[in-house]
Amino acid sequence: MDIYVRRGDSFWYFSNVFNVSLQLIIDSNRDLDPNALMAGQRVKIPGYAAVDYRIRAGDTLWAIAQSRKLQVDALLLANRNINPNGLYIGQMIKIPLRITWRIVQGKKNYDYAALTNDLNRLQSVYPFMQLPSIGNSVLGKKIPEALIGKGSKRVHYNASFHANEWITTPIIMTFLNDYLLAVTNKTSIRGLSMANFYSQTTLSIVPMVNPDGVNLVMHGPPVEEPWNERVVEFNKGSRDFTGWKANIRGVDLNDQFPAKWELERARNPKQPGPRDYGGERPLTEPEAIGMAELTRRRDFSRVLAFHTQGEEIYWGFDNLEPPESEAMAKEFARVSGYKPVKTIESYAGYKDWFIQDWRRPGFTVELGSGINPLPLSQFDEIYEDVLGIFLAGLYL
Ligand SMILES: [Zn+2]
Repeated sequence: MDIYVRRGDSFWYFSNVFNVSLQLIIDSNRDLDPNALMAGQRVKIPGYAAVDYRIRAGDTLWAIAQSRKLQVDALLLANRNINPNGLYIGQMIKIPLRITWRIVQGKKNYDYAALTNDLNRLQSVYPFMQLPSIGNSVLGKKIPEALIGKGSKRVHYNASFHANEWITTPIIMTFLNDYLLAVTNKTSIRGLSMANFYSQTTLSIVPMVNPDGVNLVMHGPPVEEPWNERVVEFNKGSRDFTGWKANIRGVDLNDQFPAKWELERARNPKQPGPRDYGGERPLTEPEAIGMAELTRRRDFSRVLAFHTQGEEIYWGFDNLEPPESEAMAKEFARVSGYKPVKTIESYAGYKDWFIQDWRRPGFTVELGSGINPLPLSQFDEIYEDVLGIFLAGLYL
């Protein structure tokens, strides 16, 4: 919700009027200098919507504010040119309404358009969340990163590296929404205060690493040539893409990282296809390059890559992981009921590369069980299980 600065107003004052933390107001208005506010400047107040209201006989601003547990000045701030003593019947005013519900409705076919729509809506309500892009997909889709918090613990989560594992995207978007809600409204999740997490951690989420692949699984071949025909060839003539994990060029993005890439290459297909082809060299695909560059730039303390399926947590790579990885995996297992597994014979994945090059904790979490793509009927159960992991990733 937008309000306008009057002479003598301050962020500190707005924080009190709207009961939103000062830090969130500062972070929602990065283009303004909190110490040099000027009358007429527009200020974003996170966590509120301005709702239309028509004045009826007998209404006063005091009564309207009282009935909604608002300060009268919140109404004056939301209505720039209102005369509190000159209300008239039929007059339209704005009433600030604190948002206490989810914007993201994840239990649906969640394609790239659903993702960008939800991210934009979340950012308009929670402007302290930044939305940079990590680069473009092969088909030119911007791959967004959501960035929240001010802390020195830099935590990274990603989802939908693999196209037919797209349920990981609405799962992680639901957590993002719940986190933003709790941070703004000073509430807790499973007894943990999210306001503290905001000051102690910087959370980076890339909710859909492989948008072209997700849309392929959901909608079939793209209109763009040569991919319209080529993906069907890569898929051995089939128009059923439910088994597709790769990007639109038939490269498996989680086999693209320079961590014993040659070993993975040796045992995998040598041609583009629905899964397991790691490309001719490491990091040839723009989606994988974007993730590698993001990881170098942000210097993450830990990373968790969310996949389906198996209800397992992979935490090792080539004995290069730090000692704390095992303890962290055990805590993730405790809060989710999933099984910690040190390694399987697998290389060139994102978490493998992170462990190898940084010697910091990296995890692949396999959500749910069954055959990919997992049905949406598993959504609530998966979210209940993985919520503990999302939270532990922040507090550990
Ligand atoms: Zn996967």
